[in-house]
Amino acid sequence: MGSIKSPGLLLTSFRRQKLALPGYESLNIVYLTSEAVPFAKTGGLADVCGTLPREVAALGHQCAVIMPAFRSVYRAGIQIETTDISFAIPMSGKKLIGGRLLKSKLPDSNVPVWLIDQPQYFDRESLYGDSLGDYPDNAERFAFFCRAALAAIARIDMNVDVLHCNDWQTGLVPALIQATPQRYPDVNDTTTIMTIHNMAYQGQFPAQAFPWTGLDWDHFTHETFEYYGQLNFLKTGIASADYVTTVSPRYAMEIRTPQHGCGLEGVIESKGGRLMGIINGIDETIWNPATDVKLPVQFDQSDWEAGKVANKRSLQSEFGLEVSDDVPMIGLVGRLAEQKGWDLILPVIRLHVEEARPTQWMILGSGDKRIEDDLASLAEQAPHQVAAHIGFHDALAHRIEAGSDLFVMPSHYEPCGLNQLYSLRYGTIPVVTATGGLADTVVDTTPETLANETATGFHLHANSPFGLDQALGRALQLRYHEKKSWNNLVRRAMAADWSWRKSASQYVELYANATSLNENSLKK
Ligand code: ADP
Repeated sequence: MGSIKSPGLLLTSFRRQKLALPGYESLNIVYLTSEAVPFAKTGGLADVCGTLPREVAALGHQCAVIMPAFRSVYRAGIQIETTDISFAIPMSGKKLIGGRLLKSKLPDSNVPVWLIDQPQYFDRESLYGDSLGDYPDNAERFAFFCRAALAAIARIDMNVDVLHCNDWQTGLVPALIQATPQRYPDVNDTTTIMTIHNMAYQGQFPAQAFPWTGLDWDHFTHETFEYYGQLNFLKTGIASADYVTTVSPRYAMEIRTPQHGCGLEGVIESKGGRLMGIINGIDETIWNPATDVKLPVQFDQSDWEAGKVANKRSLQSEFGLEVSDDVPMIGLVGRLAEQKGWDLILPVIRLHVEEARPTQWMILGSGDKRIEDDLASLAEQAPHQVAAHIGFHDALAHRIEAGSDLFVMPSHYEPCGLNQLYSLRYGTIPVVTATGGLADTVVDTTPETLANETATGFHLHANSPFGLDQALGRALQLRYHEKKSWNNLVRRAMAADWSWRKSASQYVELYANATSLNENSLKK
């Protein structure tokens, strides 16, 4: 297949083939993931894997999810059944590790969630690490997960058409099948898809971890598992999967470059037309201001002004901020990680505090200890202007989206980003860097986009604290001095359709065409 420059072109070439190939209507798709809402979540991966299978199932396909039975799974408040399916994986030498399958389902669906129960690996307080850093046995844990998932597939009575792997934790799966097809007769001609939710997290380990794959060293080559002498799970998945997707068209382009490819741009480029970007959607059963039970006051496009003010007041009283309807509340929710642009945000908050600007900051996040400390000290310095909640708090994330006027997300890179989509849905105008999914989903406000009624937010015109402050200034200027335009902006943002319907159809189209092409090439 020749190299196709724009990821968007891929579908067109598939579509032509699809019409000629019958039997794609109902597909069996297994999603492999380490996170899915409501069972386990550290970021957007969980939102996607908790929703996409349900949406694809609603389009008439059989879907199942396989994930580890982390401790958080038992706390999700969802019924979990035991099964009589168990297996033992020869992890290294004579070390046999047993596991068993538990079964649950995604809420509001019939999509089964198969949970790989292995307490020694997965019954831990966090998913990937603790305050000391990543768990030192992550290579072993997730090599086990990949192999156990393949063992599980052989037992769950599903004739799998597509194995949809997500992020590095599942990256070994396509390569294990390719390396030892005889071990996996149920899936050795199955189409594999690898979705990259964040290129920066690759699961890279010293070569000594390779034996956890259960393969001979002959397989440790640069075509698959090996990356400059190390074992790299994500690279393995990208290189071995039939198709690779990422979570926005813009990011699909960006990861072909050294700036965003994180060293894997060459592997990405080698996929040619087998790479595409599909934007994430939002789960409207969870993120809809008109029905969101986590909000003190629900609202929709008809009463957004009153609704947002009521939610703002509630946040102000709860967090000891000055209670004022007029002061603009700037919300932030996200990981306290370099990626999210805290090096831009912190100086701007500091500036607003020092100059006693009429703004309020409502921040929720956890992660990097230094950023946590900086936020805590700003909140201490200006308790009526800055509130920071350090930790993971789902209900508060909803309330911040509802009560804020602006949402700041100046990420250095952003594969898709969900918070800006939630912000749009909740009438909270996003101020974002023009990168990845942020560029694909937020239309910058300019005289032209106001005139042609497409504007939905603000882009930074320079990726610096100054650029962020300027973008905030443009937003506040519109809010206070062009009220009619501001109101239109909010209504347009709320009306934009970011539901999963569109994206799920794009995935189905990919599955259908990919399996058709796969079948064709097998027949040859
Ligand atoms: P990423 O996956 O890079 O962390 P996304 O914007 O794609 O970023 O998704 C982040 C998801 O995690 C969103 O659903 C967001 O609301 C949620 N989230 C992030 N941090 C927190 C937190 N501290 N408390 C509650 N939810 C959070």
